[in-house]
Amino acid sequence: MFDYLIVGAGFAGSVIAERLASEAGKKVLIIDTRNHIGGNAYDCYDNHGILIHKYGPHIFHTNSRPVFEYLSKFTEWRPYEHRVLASVDGQLLPIPINLNTVNKLYGLNLTSFEVKDFFTKVAEQMSYIRTSEDVVVSKVGRELYEKFFRNYTRKQWGMDPSELDKSVIARVPTRTNRDDRYFTDTYQAMPLHGYTRMFEKMLSHPNIKIMLNTDYREIEGIIPYGEMIYTGPVDSYFNYCYGKLPYRSLEFKHETLNVPVHQQAPVVNYPNEHLYTRCTEFKYLTGQEHQKTSVVYEYPQAEGDPYYPVPRPENAEIYKKYKALADATPGVHFVGRLATYRYYNMDQVVAQALTTYSQIVTKPTIELVSDLNGSSPNLGLDKAVDRPLPLEIASASSNGNGTAKSPAVS
Ligand code: FAD
Ligand code: UDP
Repeated sequence: MFDYLIVGAGFAGSVIAERLASEAGKKVLIIDTRNHIGGNAYDCYDNHGILIHKYGPHIFHTNSRPVFEYLSKFTEWRPYEHRVLASVDGQLLPIPINLNTVNKLYGLNLTSFEVKDFFTKVAEQMSYIRTSEDVVVSKVGRELYEKFFRNYTRKQWGMDPSELDKSVIARVPTRTNRDDRYFTDTYQAMPLHGYTRMFEKMLSHPNIKIMLNTDYREIEGIIPYGEMIYTGPVDSYFNYCYGKLPYRSLEFKHETLNVPVHQQAPVVNYPNEHLYTRCTEFKYLTGQEHQKTSVVYEYPQAEGDPYYPVPRPENAEIYKKYKALADATPGVHFVGRLATYRYYNMDQVVAQALTTYSQIVTKPTIELVSDLNGSSPNLGLDKAVDRPLPLEIASASSNGNGTAKSPAVS
C-alpha cells in the first residue's frame, strides 16, 4: 500500500515525491504516461552525443533563494545568463527590446535618456492595460509592437495579442539600458549535468517507486494508495465535464548540424518569418563542447501534448469551475502548470509544490519557508517583476496581506 500516488514525474510531482519520501517518511508511487521522468524539463543525449532538451529550451532562473537552495541539494550548477536575438527587418536584434535594439534597428545613437523620450513619443496613452497588445503598445508604440510581438504572438498562440491576457507579453520587459539578458533574476544557472540527472537524484529514495509508460487510470483500483497528487491537465481529470480547457501545443523539430556553431545566440526568435517561432542551439545552454551542434525549431499547434495554458478571461472562467470541483475532491491535490492551469515557470512550480507539500503535512507554510531560507518567511518570487505569483506563496509572503499578485489565469 502506497501512502501517495503521484501522477506526473515533472517538477510538480517529483518535488512532492521527494519531500514526502525523504522528509515525511511516506511511501510513494510516482507514475507518468511518458517513458521518462522530468516532465517537460526532460533532457537527454541525442544520437550524436549532444545534450538536448526534448521539449524545447528550459532555462532555469529564479529570485527565490529557498527554491534555488532546495534544488541545489540535487544538482551542481553551471552559471548561465540567457540571451535572445530576434530576426527583424533583416537584422538580428536583442530582445527584450533595449537601447541597442532601438539604435541598431533605426541606425541611431541614442542614449538611455534619449531612448526613454523616444518610447514616450511613440507609446500610445492608455487608461487601462488589459491585453497583451496594450502592454507593448503602451510602452513602445505600435511600430515596435508590429515588428517584434504581433506576429510572434499570433504564431505562438494562434490568436492576436489583443485577445490574450496582458500577463503573457508582460513576461518580456522593455529596457532603456543596454542589458541584453533575457532574465534579470538573482539566480540564473543550468543544472551542471542536466535536468534529468537532477530528477534522478530527487527520486532516488527507497520510499519512492517509479512507474513509466502508465496512465494513472490503468492502475486505479489495482494498486492501493492513500491520497493522490495530480499534476496532469485538470480538465482531463474531470473527464472534460465543463468542456476542454485550451492548452497550446508545440511540435519540436530537432536537427543536428555538421558544424560546431549554427547561430549567433542561444535562441533566435523569428516573429515575422517561417512557421516556427524560434530556433535554439543547445550547446550555448549546456556549455558542451562538440564538433557538431544540435538545434530545435518550435512549431506552435492547437492540438497535441498540452504545453501552455492559454491566459484569456473565458478560459479563466472555465478553470474556475474545475478549480471548485478540485477543491471539493478530498484526497486529491492538484499541483503544477497543467493541473492549476497557470503559465508557470519551473521555479514557480517548485515553489507551488513545496507549499502544497507543507499544506499536506499540515506544517504551517511559514515553517517550511524559514527552514529553507534560514530567516525570511518569503520564497522570494515576489521580486520577479511581471511574473505571476502563486496564491499560496503570496499569502505566505512577508507583506502578509494575503493577496495574490496577478495570477496568470485565475
Ligand atoms: P509537466 O512537466 O508537464 O509534468 C506533468 C507530467 O504529468 C508529464 O510528464 C505528463 O506526461 C504527466 N501526466 C499527465 N497526465 C498524466 C496521466 N493521466 N497519467 C500519468 N501521467 C500523466 N520554465 C522555465 O522556468 N524556464 C524555461 O526556459 C522554460 N521553457 C519552457 C519551454 C517550453 C517549450 C515549455 C512547454 C515550457 C517551458 N517552461 C520553462 C515551463 C516548464 O516546462 C514548466 O514550468 C514545468 O516543466 C512544469 O512542471 P509540471 O510538473 O507542472 O508539468
Ligand atoms: N513574445 C513575442 N516576441 C518575442 C518573444 C516573446 O511576441 O520575440 C511574446 C509571445 O506572445 C510569447 C510571450 O511574449 O508567448 C512570452 O515570451 P516567453 O519568451 O516568456 O515565452 P516562453 O519561453 O514561455 O515560450
